[in-house]
Amino acid sequence: MTAPAVQLDWRNGIHWSRRRAKCRVCKRPTNLRDDKGRPSHKVCAEQLLARLAERVAS
Ligand SMILES: [Zn+2]
Repeated sequence: MTAPAVQLDWRNGIHWSRRRAKCRVCKRPTNLRDDKGRPSHKVCAEQLLARLAERVAS
């Protein structure tokens, strides 16, 4: 059985910026921002969190 994927809710406006910036994970441009205001795609942030959670669990 696989662990449930991390699902973030970024629908509120704080995760959106008019300015495109390089995603800190995949380096492609994005308008999205993570909780700390750093440029990051939602899927990229979810992958990071999932990896982190895995490390904590093991
Ligand atoms: Zn990305």
